[in-house]
Amino acid sequence: MAAGTQAATYAPRRTALDALLVAEARAQGARLRERFAVTGLLVADGQVTGVRGTGPDGPAALRARVVVGADGRNSTVARLVKSPVVEDRGVLARSLYGYWSGVAERGVRVVFRGRRGISLWPTNDGLTVVSLVFPPEEAPGPGRSALAEFYVSALREVPEVERALAGADLVSQPQAAAVRNARRQAYGPGWVLAGDAGHHKDPVSAQGISDAFADAEVLADALDAALSGSVGLDEALAGYAAARDAQRLDTFNYTCEQAELRPFGAEFLDDLAQTAADEQAVAAFVNTFVGCDAPSDASWLGESH
Ligand SMILES: Cc1cc2nc3c(=O)[nH]c(=O)nc-3n(C[C@H](O)[C@H](O)[C@H](O)COP(=O)(O)OP(=O)(O)OC[C@H]3O[C@@H](n4cnc5c(N)ncnc54)[C@H](O)[C@@H]3O)c2cc1C
Repeated sequence: MAAGTQAATYAPRRTALDALLVAEARAQGARLRERFAVTGLLVADGQVTGVRGTGPDGPAALRARVVVGADGRNSTVARLVKSPVVEDRGVLARSLYGYWSGVAERGVRVVFRGRRGISLWPTNDGLTVVSLVFPPEEAPGPGRSALAEFYVSALREVPEVERALAGADLVSQPQAAAVRNARRQAYGPGWVLAGDAGHHKDPVSAQGISDAFADAEVLADALDAALSGSVGLDEALAGYAAARDAQRLDTFNYTCEQAELRPFGAEFLDDLAQTAADEQAVAAFVNTFVGCDAPSDASWLGESH
């Protein structure tokens, strides 16, 4: 989303979002090979020239002028091209999330208590996804039932969450996540990385999907310019990499600060009380929180939770 635009947040299920993206890509002329796993690269004279992989029709080798690794945070393309990791802050927080039915309140609610954060986001099919973020050292015991017990009791300990979930049912096994905060070099000879493949961060700031879309938009323009011959490929990819790094660095730092889950400071709580009393300040706060505006001072939420 462009800086300065009005905040709007959505929490679609991946099943719904991915289906929309696939339908739109096909409508625009893209050819999709489903259940096709990239397992290797074609390389000539140090330049990536395509991929090898396997799918329902067996193994295949596909040639390309540029291979775009948009294959997520455990990117096979990034690993195979040995894209250098330029920064790795490790795992700073852990998350558990589950889907609930029958939550009466359909608004978004975010609650911080000590070093834990809880968010309730309405999603598709009348469900609400409820996430719990907590420091890595608070790891629940092994096994699915210990995980579920830790998750439910952490939610029930917070009175306003307990009230919001009164009469609601947990309809999924809680899922766990522990995401490294790491950035990779964006491009090299014949390859380029987009979305989580090139930079991934803790879900606490809920910015990864917007960032992946922003990468895709800038990269599509750069590739269009290069493939239509108006600029050289190297120049186009360098431009994309510079834009990506400029746009993402503040959000990366801000996410890492959030993921450290430091307790609120008195000064921040005072600022928050003043913000709550001013409608424009509330809009600016929400815009920054959801990524419509880059944080002007990455430390503003650093003392917060
Ligand atoms: C628990 C959790 C909660 C999150 N919550 C939010 C949130 O609320 N809001 C938000 O914005 N972000 C959130 N994120 C982050 C968000 O999911 C990612 O930032 C985003 O999905 C990145 O998009 P992507 O397209 O780069 O990668 P992905 O969405 O990971 O897509 C990668 C695709 O590549 C495919 N793939 C992988 N390997 C191969 C291979 N070898 N060959 C072929 N295909 C391959 C995968 O199947 C997948 O379809 C969350 C992440 C986690 C873990």
